[in-house]
Amino acid sequence: MYTQIVIVGAGPAGLSLARALSSSGARIILVDTQQLTALSDPSFDGREIALTHQSISDLEQLGVWDRIDAKEVFTLREAQIYDGKSPYALRYGPGEIDGQLGCMVSNCTIRKAAYEAVKVLENVEVLAGAKVVSLEVGKRSVRITLSDGKDISAALLIGADSRFSFVRDQLGIGAEMNRLGKAMLVGRVKIGSWHDDIATEWFDHGQTLALLPLGDGVASAVLTLPESEAATLQKLKAEALGQELQRRYRGRFGTMTPLSPLHSYPLTTTYSKRFVAHRAALIGDAAVGMHPVTAHGFNLGLASVRHLSEEILPILERGGDPANPAALARYERRHRRESRPIYLATNSIVGLYTDDRPPARIARRVSLRLAQLLPARKAVQRMLMKPARERTRLRRSVISSKLRLGR
Ligand SMILES: Cc1cc2nc3c(=O)[nH]c(=O)nc-3n(C[C@H](O)[C@H](O)[C@H](O)COP(=O)(O)OP(=O)(O)OC[C@H]3O[C@@H](n4cnc5c(N)ncnc54)[C@H](O)[C@@H]3O)c2cc1C
Repeated sequence: MYTQIVIVGAGPAGLSLARALSSSGARIILVDTQQLTALSDPSFDGREIALTHQSISDLEQLGVWDRIDAKEVFTLREAQIYDGKSPYALRYGPGEIDGQLGCMVSNCTIRKAAYEAVKVLENVEVLAGAKVVSLEVGKRSVRITLSDGKDISAALLIGADSRFSFVRDQLGIGAEMNRLGKAMLVGRVKIGSWHDDIATEWFDHGQTLALLPLGDGVASAVLTLPESEAATLQKLKAEALGQELQRRYRGRFGTMTPLSPLHSYPLTTTYSKRFVAHRAALIGDAAVGMHPVTAHGFNLGLASVRHLSEEILPILERGGDPANPAALARYERRHRRESRPIYLATNSIVGLYTDDRPPARIARRVSLRLAQLLPARKAVQRMLMKPARERTRLRRSVISSKLRLGR
């Protein structure tokens, strides 16, 4: 089988790229190991994604945003980071649009909307339940082989197959990889007191806690713990879990009642040494696998879609080769320029706040008070609060009304 573009991974990044390139009329095949039912109606996975205004604008242009029910969109006004019991907070926001930093939408809702935006496209085919088991790069095309023995040849191969990308490995591209030995537990909870639409994060001794606002009386509890402790917590029954959460959050939000089981994500950050190779490019987590603490993973994934599609869409529209080396090199430079500072800044925040040795504790107390001077804070702030480019008045009002309805 021959196609112009084959995308390995129909996660939110792969689906978004297929949608972005589809307007050229190019034939695109998406391949994913997951079955069709899991792609078309993904189950709740605990992840609540904080979207920036730029990402909302991107999703709107991709025809994904309008497929998300306004009731599933929650206001995010501000983010605050605390160190243990210290009253000083590192603050981000409120943002410049309607005083909002962005909004919260669950990962499964984004995936479902992105799949629906792709399934209506005649020139895009989704091959579900298909695992890529090998690939071969030739001068004029790339050939991938699926677990059922089928071959697909394409002019351009896209790796959108997660931070543990098989495509990246097969292309011989290395990656910085930090296994942190901790797991992030996430789940919905009913809370007894109002969160004020503020995302709050506490770096405590031996644990990091966060509470993400999901409208009236509901929030996402996020706990980063050593893997063994996370496994123990995951086994608790609902009532015992509620009490344990209340104890760990020191009663700040009153009674906490679990509304979903806790989902566990072992924490590993990755950064690919290169984002492109001959006839291939990496996007989404396959390019940059962020620590979730600064909520930038999918926001950067959408940035990779924007950067790559802006380079190759004009070429496709002229009937040219989408694997044009100069265009791929420009994508690499642009995406590295945007992602590298935020990746390093996030890692330095994680390093500073999760080190419980006395010198680190003193350093973070000082840094919280001098927060405005921290380069890391500035890098995160730039990404979080950057308004969307070329936003029209119409788009601004659509986004604002969804945010208002969502609350
Ligand atoms: C707890 C948590 C909270 C987060 N919060 C935020 C947030 O607030 N804001 C934010 O921006 N980001 C956040 N993120 C990050 C965000 O979830 C990810 O960046 C995003 O889901 C990555 O999308 P992706 O499409 O690149 O990869 P994935 O979602 O990992 O999709 C990869 C796809 O590739 C498929 N695949 C893999 N290997 C193969 C193969 N060999 N053959 C075929 N298919 C294959 C998989 O089945 C999968 O469908 C969070 C992450 C976590 C874990």
